[in-house]
Amino acid sequence: MRIALGEIVQETGTFTRSRTGREAFEAYGIFQGAELLEQLAGVGPPGGFLQVVAERGDAVEVVPLSRAWAGAGPKILDETYDELLEMLLAPLREAGDLDAVFLSLHGAASIERDDDLEGAVLEAVREVIGPDVPLVCPLDHHANITTRMVDCADMLVGHETQPHYTFGTGFKAAKLLFDWLDSGRKPAIGWRKIPMITPQDQFLTSGGPMKAWFDRARELEQQDGVLDVSPYPMQPWLDVAEGGWAVVVHTDGDAELADRLAADMGAMAWELREDFWKSERVEVSEAVRRAYLHQDGLLVLSDTGDSVYGGAPGDSTWILRELLAQAGDQPESDRLMLVPIVDPVAVNVARAAGVGAEVTVSLGGKIDNEFSQPVETTARVVTVSENHVMDVGERGSVEIGPVVLLRVGPVNVVVMAAAGFAICHPVLYQHLGLDVDQARAVVVKTASNFQYFDDWRRALVRVDTPGMTQSDLAAFTWNRTPRPIFPFDDDVAWEPGVVRGDV
Ligand SMILES: [Zn+2]
Repeated sequence: MRIALGEIVQETGTFTRSRTGREAFEAYGIFQGAELLEQLAGVGPPGGFLQVVAERGDAVEVVPLSRAWAGAGPKILDETYDELLEMLLAPLREAGDLDAVFLSLHGAASIERDDDLEGAVLEAVREVIGPDVPLVCPLDHHANITTRMVDCADMLVGHETQPHYTFGTGFKAAKLLFDWLDSGRKPAIGWRKIPMITPQDQFLTSGGPMKAWFDRARELEQQDGVLDVSPYPMQPWLDVAEGGWAVVVHTDGDAELADRLAADMGAMAWELREDFWKSERVEVSEAVRRAYLHQDGLLVLSDTGDSVYGGAPGDSTWILRELLAQAGDQPESDRLMLVPIVDPVAVNVARAAGVGAEVTVSLGGKIDNEFSQPVETTARVVTVSENHVMDVGERGSVEIGPVVLLRVGPVNVVVMAAAGFAICHPVLYQHLGLDVDQARAVVVKTASNFQYFDDWRRALVRVDTPGMTQSDLAAFTWNRTPRPIFPFDDDVAWEPGVVRGDV
């Protein structure tokens, strides 16, 4: 049996003016050939696929295509996409007869000339392999499912949880693919677009309406003949044609059942739509006031508007400015306030001044100068780190790059030359000698991925910060999203029994 394996993953925030180039992918490694198989063992959805292959123990030949992964960021340059696509397609054209293609995608990536990277990739792959070779894709459940994706792929399997267990999604999708190959029974697909969009406030699957919706998916998967039920609460910073929530259902060949369950899941999300908009966001100065008063363990200040994993640049100054303003005369010996910020210029200024020097620097607010402005402060340069490579388990190893630690009273600002995975991870502080156990509060540039601080976290404040990933979705200008859509339009009538385009 011969199965081709590839990956092109990026999550796009379309409200960001800048662009994602090839270097964003190179930072995480672009792999081909044998290197791909080596590097992706245990890593992400391809790792899950390779695990299933290993467990089968029989003769499955994996044909490596290419792997390009870039976290989240602005739209991808057309020329970068063209290069990455060719790296994927060239070995596919040479592959000879294949029994299947396993292609890991995100689902919410856009390039300059096309809103729907995944639809374009799947179309191109389908053109090479023809209509009959199974094409199975693990996706992020924040994907925007499009007609082209459904038309070109056979299975679109989403994450079961937020935070995501990406290896598990690959494992699940691979199991379903091998079941198909072993049985010869082609899965049926049913799906619905749901005309709604919601902020990230209720995105965790551990509670609230999202838990109810995802629990229902797992419940339906227990029914006879149901292979996979994947809810897709699209990430909300995506202004694209066909934008909106979706659900995809795969059954053991029963198209009517797949369609009915997709309608059932769509109806449930629609009924809960007001609940998905509930928010506990706290205004910035009040959030910081609470942080300084916090006594027991670590308080996490979630910078919701500057979520790096959602595509924001990590250089918003809203919380930093307030932390500095409210620090007053508090001594350095007070419990630490930890805050990251991305600013390559400030890193160079501090490096040039050297450890121990006092510097006056302008911090942040430069990459995203639409939502936030630089904050000027005089700080002591405490530590300079040229780079640190960290192993982040199922995401493989990532580089932190050059960082400096600046201190203003109890406020410890870690300035990064580039945003990356570590920005929401304790290792960012630990590798500079800071003890997270001694901290009063930490700012995380995420609205959902607090899990790396779980060992310390005693309190969480979702800060209502402006930014490219802000929860105030009405403040963006929406040009491409299909209308009407909840909640931007009044009286959106939707019946899950009717396919979206017919409403
Ligand atoms: Zn996601």
